[in-house]
This record gives sequence, structure tokens and C-alpha cells, in this order.
Amino acid sequence: MADFSGFTRRKFIFTAGASAAGSLLLNSCLGNPPSDTDSADAGDTASGTAAPSPVSAADSPETPNVKLGYIPIAESAGLIIAKEKGFFAKYGMTGAEVSKQASWAAARDNVTIGSQGGGIDGGQWQMPMPHLMTEGIITNGQKIPMYVLAQLVTQGNGIAVSGKNAGQGLGLDISSAADYIKNFQSTNGRKFKAAHTFPHVNQDFWIRYWFAAGGVNPDTDIDLLAVPSAETVQGMRNGTMDAFSTGDPWPYRIVADDIGFMGALTQQIWPFHPEEYLAIRADWVDANPKATKAVLKGLMEAQQWCDDPANRAELVQICAGRNYFNVPVDVLTPPYEGKYEMGDGKPAVDDFEAGPLYWKDPRGSVSYPYKSHDLWFLTESVRWGFPLGEMTDFDKIRAVIDKVNREDLWREAAQEAGFKDIPTETSRGVETFFDGTEFDPENPQAYLDSLKIKKAA
Ligand code: CA
Repeated sequence: MADFSGFTRRKFIFTAGASAAGSLLLNSCLGNPPSDTDSADAGDTASGTAAPSPVSAADSPETPNVKLGYIPIAESAGLIIAKEKGFFAKYGMTGAEVSKQASWAAARDNVTIGSQGGGIDGGQWQMPMPHLMTEGIITNGQKIPMYVLAQLVTQGNGIAVSGKNAGQGLGLDISSAADYIKNFQSTNGRKFKAAHTFPHVNQDFWIRYWFAAGGVNPDTDIDLLAVPSAETVQGMRNGTMDAFSTGDPWPYRIVADDIGFMGALTQQIWPFHPEEYLAIRADWVDANPKATKAVLKGLMEAQQWCDDPANRAELVQICAGRNYFNVPVDVLTPPYEGKYEMGDGKPAVDDFEAGPLYWKDPRGSVSYPYKSHDLWFLTESVRWGFPLGEMTDFDKIRAVIDKVNREDLWREAAQEAGFKDIPTETSRGVETFFDGTEFDPENPQAYLDSLKIKKAA
């Protein structure tokens, strides 16, 4: 059974008023992330605040080197902290590098060539990118077997709406705004336009779920497309873009910079939902099983560090830095305190558990990669008719999950390191969304059947 004790005991403190954050240096903080070469020194800072290495000779990793890609958003904090606070080094990964990626497509291309070709061994992914790469679906038919090793974070994402659409009822439940959105063309000369940063993965799923739950078909009633973040925000400013599915710290900027308002946070759509993951090339993991577990132990310890409220100010100081997110500390602080200005007359959110969580949430482990969550992402891919190659039924989907998801390695690493909060099942059980829809991992077809708006037959 699903355990929502954590959800019901969560508290929201409602505060009134608009953000008083003042003006920010937009050009610098809304720009594209620097290219890989710009950030080649990103991880060169001396590390070593962690305790002396607990690594015995038997546990000694096959290599101290691994190159992990990341995107400069809240999801990557665990990887950055593992590097900067010396947790990778503590477990023997003294040569671990974290490498800023210019885009999701760049990350995919870099893992396709691997670190030996100048790319990366793995890193941060939206889902189900590792499964799609493994099957060659987003890599031009070339199969790049990947292993999902850990979840990086829960929550921390949201749906932003441009100020042009204020006062129309675009909140968590948009059913009262459905006609406004569907009739947008007749009054504006174009369809309601929404963006995400990469197709067929998390941020595409979140905004599709939100539209469809409110009675808007994201494939036919609106234009929904992949657009770089900076271009999307510029479009929201000048009235050519209406909504944006995005992650922290963007939701904060949208309101603070008076670009628009938050329609919903993803934690309101699906509390404690799976977000982004660590996955590494299967050939690297197979050749370096001890190093893989060392990476996992370093990440896990970093995730525990990240979730201590006492460490959040230092986390912000590190991640906001020029080598990492390159944003003002003021922009990154509120989401890490669980503070979100929603705008458009909606109450602000002020709840630590509403922000990004890295290690533990009221439903248990955040870091553990539940197979039931991989199945939701792939079921949602079926829902929208996304390309799934040879994954033509749920048996084949489950077979790919069993191949790609290495929760066994997560479990071994956690046990070896003596960490608590290790789940006993590979399923988190039934998931419930804000509109009452349930996803039972035992019966994904029943979930598909229950949905009114979908492409799946
Ligand atoms: Ca995300």
C-alpha cells in the first residue's frame, strides 16, 4: 500500500504578497550554461573536508577516475557536493570529475563517445534517457547500454506560466482554464505555446500530465516543443511563449523577475515523485564494479549531507559558484529552503519538504532507484506514443528495466557503507497523483485505461 503519512503531515505555511527579491542580473543569470571547455576547471578545486578514507585494500576501486556530466540545476547538487566536499575522494575516487554539460543533447552525445573519446562515462539524466540510450532510440540506432544506479533528487521542478496568462485560472488544476487554453488561437492568432528542454523525458511528462489532468490535450490543443531555457524565458517575457516546464532555480526566477508565475510545482502534481538519476555506461560499470560502488557511496554520503538543513547555506554557496550554476546566491537560496513564490494570487509555499530532497523523504529513500518508477516513466511513454523501439509490450519494457536498473549495486554499496534507510522492495507501491489518478506498478495497463487524454490505443 502507498504510504501517504508523510504527505498528510506535511505542512504548508501560506504567506501573502509578491516577491521582494528585487531586480536580478538577468543577462548573466538567464544565459546558457558555459560550454564544456569553459568549465574544464569546474572540478579542480581541492577537495578534502571528509573524514580519512575508509577504503580497505579489498574495496580499493579499479580506477580512481570517472567523468560524470551534470546540468546546472538543483538535480545535480549531490554530484557537485560529492566532488567538492570530498565524498568521492573519501571512497577512493580521487580522480572523479564533474563536467558541466551544455544541454541534455550534449550530455547524450558525450556519453555516446565515452570519456576515452573526450566525453563522459555517465552522470545526470532525465528519465527514461538511460533506457532509451540502451535501446538506441535517442542515439541514432546505436545501442549504448547504460545502468541506472541511483536517483539524484525528488521534486524541485515546476510549471511556469507567462504573465500574459495571469488571472485565467492556470493553477494546479487547470480545468477552469481549459476553454481559455483551447480557444487561445481565436483570440491570439496562435495556439497556446509551451516548452520543455528535451522531448520524451521528465519535464515533458510533467507538463503533459498537468495539461491532460485539466482536460487539455497537449498534442492537439496546444503547441508543445523543446526549446532552450534562455529562449523560452525570453519568449515568456515578450509574449510569444506561454508556459515552461522547468527545474530549480528557474521557477524562482520566473516570479522574482516578473516574467510570470508558477502554475504548479511538481511536488504538488505528484508528491515525492522520482526526478533525475545517476546512470553510467554499462561497459564502465562492468569493468569497474568497485569503483562504481565507491561512486555510489560518495554520492549517498553527499545526498545525506545535502538533506541536513544546517548544510543548505553551504550547498547554495558551492552550487551558485561560477564553476557550477553561476547564479546569484539569492536566486538559489529560497528553493533550498522550500520557499516558492507562486504568483497570480496563489499562496506562497514555505515548507522544507516541498523543495528538493536528496536522500530521504516521507516515503522513504530518495536515492534508491525503484524499478516501479522506471516503469512509470516508460508507461507514460506508452501513453503519449513516444518511440520505444523494441519495447512493444509491458513484458519487454520490464525486461529492459531489469537490464538497465542496477538497484542491486545501490543496495550493496549502501550496505557496505553502513547506511540506513535501505528499501526492501524494488517497488514503492501504488502512486497517487493530485487528480486522484493511481498508478499501480503491478498493473500499468489499468493506469493507461483510466486516463482520458492519451495517444495510446
Ligand atoms: Ca528536472
